[in-house]
Amino acid sequence: MALKIYNSLTRQLEEFVPLHEGKVLMYSCGPTVYDYFHIGNARTFLVSDIVRRYLEYKNYTVTLVQNLTDIDDKIINRANEQGIDCCQLAQKYVDAYFEDSSKLGIRSADVHPRATEHISEIISLIQTLIDKQAAYEIDGDVYYRVNHFAEYGKLSHRKPEDLLAGARVEVDERKEDPRDFDLWKKSKAGEPWWDSPWSKGRPGWHIECSAMAMKHLDETIDIHTGGHDLIFPHHENEIAQSEVATGKAFVRYWMHVAFLQIDGRRMGKSESNFIFVHDAVQQYAPEAIRHFLISAQYRHPLDYNPTSLKESSSAVRRLNNCIDALGPYRDVAGDALEGLNDAEAVRLLESINTMRDDFEATMDEDFNTAGALGTIFKFVGEVNQFLAATDNTASEERRSVLSQAYRSLVEVCSVLGIYTEEEVASDAHAALTEELMNLILEVREDARERKDWDTADKIRDQLEQLNIELQDSRGGTTWRILKGAKG
Ligand code: AMP
Ligand code: ZN
Repeated sequence: MALKIYNSLTRQLEEFVPLHEGKVLMYSCGPTVYDYFHIGNARTFLVSDIVRRYLEYKNYTVTLVQNLTDIDDKIINRANEQGIDCCQLAQKYVDAYFEDSSKLGIRSADVHPRATEHISEIISLIQTLIDKQAAYEIDGDVYYRVNHFAEYGKLSHRKPEDLLAGARVEVDERKEDPRDFDLWKKSKAGEPWWDSPWSKGRPGWHIECSAMAMKHLDETIDIHTGGHDLIFPHHENEIAQSEVATGKAFVRYWMHVAFLQIDGRRMGKSESNFIFVHDAVQQYAPEAIRHFLISAQYRHPLDYNPTSLKESSSAVRRLNNCIDALGPYRDVAGDALEGLNDAEAVRLLESINTMRDDFEATMDEDFNTAGALGTIFKFVGEVNQFLAATDNTASEERRSVLSQAYRSLVEVCSVLGIYTEEEVASDAHAALTEELMNLILEVREDARERKDWDTADKIRDQLEQLNIELQDSRGGTTWRILKGAKG
């Protein structure tokens, strides 16, 4: 089945074909780190996480880059308000970003480049634009010359007069054209600055994404994601800068996420109607928040209300109960699936195949997570029915099909991040791990009593490689799994 993506550039659903077979280069606009992020921002970050997971499910090798905007007017203002350094403020919220996003199960990108660590790349990109007459300097500021790029407006599909009207809001008389935008800003007294050929200053926001996408991915990338508000001017400007600098198409598929809303209004800092992720996770399980945030396909606005989150919590509980009930069959071999005789088992096997096909069909249709959830929960109902008619003396056939149901369900849920297998593994296997460790420690103790230090040390060293640490004391040996070890 072919994956289709709605491309904001062409405003069409297009079959996804990456530039290099089997590989996907993906860039996602990350947070401006001047505050904690809210569940509206989380919707956008989550979409890029799920796009990446689903592409991996389809066997693509994905390289995901997500920037951190760590220098910007908002950061400078907030740092001044708090009487601290911009770097300190940015670092605090970079740490908070990683903490909160990992709570939500959003995997880290392959690279999280920071604007302040790419000043030389940004300067050389600006210089290229100046050399091509696509940018000009006035009193230490550098502007992009929009008139130079005939295709300006192609992403936002705005007419020239609309572009002009938007730009007139804050007119800088020195600009050749009201639409021209900052590439480099000369710093005012007390503001952070970097040396450049034009002034002691700092980069504009748009140029940082062009420079970092090109540095860490390529001049042409496959997928670029961001919230709907970034289409104009941010992404329109990224295209103008990048395409003039390289002469190549910058992005093949542009994906934009519709807003999370409250009472029909966008959730946003300026609206003061936001809920921070770190507050939401105090109240709801991360999987429930994820479930809620993907309960509409990403191009449709989604309305926040506590009832929806409660519904998501109970849906996730239902899912967990089902997977827990399947847990005991997890490691049953699949041989008995050949030539099934039990009619109910045959039906469940068919349901498994249908669920997988429907899951892929919905996700292939521009990542329709709402449809995918519908498919998963229909299947949960079917599994529950089958389980109700199955006791612990179940035939090998039934056990095999249940094992298959477990694996398929966990796999599709992992793509959406509404279930993570490690949790079951640790639950179901904690007791077994305990017993195995006791056995290993006994064997080591015997070796020590025989003064066979080689064997005792070998056991310690090999356990260490598995991130299991032993501590010998007079009372005996204890063990612990070090943080970061795989469960
Ligand atoms: P910011 O930190 O403000 O640059 O925003 C980070 C990302 O969140 C951007 O891609 C925004 O477009 C996106 N975003 C902001 N508000 C919302 C919202 N209410 N719903 C969905 N995405 C949003
Ligand atoms: Zn960006």
